[in-house]
Amino acid sequence: NVRVRFCPSPTGTPHVGMVRTALFNWAEARHTGGTLVFRIEDTDAQRDSEESYNQIIDALTWLGIDWDEGINVGGPDGPYRQSERGQIYADVAQKLLDAGYAYESFSTPEEIAARNEAAGRPKEFGYDGYDRNLTEEQKEAFRAEGRKPALRIKMPDEDIKFNDLIRGEIEFKAGSVPDYVIVRPNGDPLYTLTNPVDDAMMNINVVLRGEDLLSSTPRQIVLYRYLMELGVSKEMPLFGHMPYVMGEGHKKLSKRDPESNLFLHRENGFIKEGLLNYLALLGWSISPDNDIFSMEEMIKAFDVRNVKANPAHFDLDKAISINAEHIRILEPRDFLNRSVPYLFREGLVSAKVWEDLTPREREILTAAAPLVQTRVRLLGEVPGMVGSLLSTDEYLEPEADAHKQIKESAPAVLDAAIAALEAVDEADWTTDNLHETLNKALVEDGGYKPRLAFGPVRVALSGRRVSPPLFESMEVVGKPVSIARLKNLRA
Ligand code: GLU
Repeated sequence: NVRVRFCPSPTGTPHVGMVRTALFNWAEARHTGGTLVFRIEDTDAQRDSEESYNQIIDALTWLGIDWDEGINVGGPDGPYRQSERGQIYADVAQKLLDAGYAYESFSTPEEIAARNEAAGRPKEFGYDGYDRNLTEEQKEAFRAEGRKPALRIKMPDEDIKFNDLIRGEIEFKAGSVPDYVIVRPNGDPLYTLTNPVDDAMMNINVVLRGEDLLSSTPRQIVLYRYLMELGVSKEMPLFGHMPYVMGEGHKKLSKRDPESNLFLHRENGFIKEGLLNYLALLGWSISPDNDIFSMEEMIKAFDVRNVKANPAHFDLDKAISINAEHIRILEPRDFLNRSVPYLFREGLVSAKVWEDLTPREREILTAAAPLVQTRVRLLGEVPGMVGSLLSTDEYLEPEADAHKQIKESAPAVLDAAIAALEAVDEADWTTDNLHETLNKALVEDGGYKPRLAFGPVRVALSGRRVSPPLFESMEVVGKPVSIARLKNLRA
């Protein structure tokens, strides 16, 4: 039974890398019929926040990434917030100390640096193991000075090898990883302790996480061995380190880059299907010739051994075009339901949910859905597309780029269009008939090229150069408002 975990630290707003980690762990659990444990690593009171905690849950819930044990759902190994597990870590730390796997370290950072310098070692060398063999008297003397010890893990003098699920054989040479702190002098346990202890107690057997954590793996393997000796852990987990996500200019995508901000993508109108599909491609692919897939298909096909080790590149344009594909295949009603909040945000409809809209709003949106669903790539583009259809205004200010379009052939075109349209009976105000009428008046009789003929009419009707199809839109808007808009632009 595969047991994986997602264990973010609640600092900052959810980012793309974090969600990719959650997604791959989820896919691994669902593919294997295993268990996904969701715990929160909030041992850093300075940086962690309740807001971030809530945002992480919001993100997973929105995306439909569900978990089997952990936050909110409980399970046999709780609590699942590390801030509530202080006693557990204190007990394990004591056991490690008693068994001689950990020791008290009184050295200050300054002392360590001074010793390294005196011995001609480079700064990056880190801790030198000085306190490993302190006598009881020496320790007493430090205590008498008022010093409090940190706890450090004793690294064995041997190479540490493991077989990474994604990267293959990895080896850290003996002596390359210094003895490291697991408990601060003030008693606070560090990630170095809490993460492997929880993985051990929660029986995690596959650790799937970002490449940035690769350097902590030899330390955790050593701690795991000690935990097995102490009976805290039963088996060594397998490790897999997912590739970095790169942003602009081949630099690592940083949590602070806007492309990295999950909620910004949501605000702009990514739907969860599109975003998840794109995030899945950051280090994985379903087949060489298909980039579009559903989560059901991903779960069926996913295998962590097929995750690629080389860096993935975040390409916003590609993400948006994948999103467009997923928008296109939504049920029209589903598309409308999801668009309403974006319309409400722009003040174009009276309510946040479909059920609370007015009958007129629903009627117009129902007619508009097929016109816009195939033309938007993000739901944030829907308001711009249907705003002119929902509005009853008799004049729409043309958007900045539209002026050129109007100047070229209007006002003669607009006059000809107005004359032809006024002759159309309200009862015949249909897409087909409008098409025929304007085509005859402007192209056949008027001799205008279609682009020059319909461009100004489109701008008059929608205020925009790019809009839903013209004749369908005129039908939705109706005769009086359509003609008023043409006249008012002409005026
Ligand atoms: N809390 C750690 C982080 O957010 C998790 C590291 C891990 O997956 O082991 O980076």
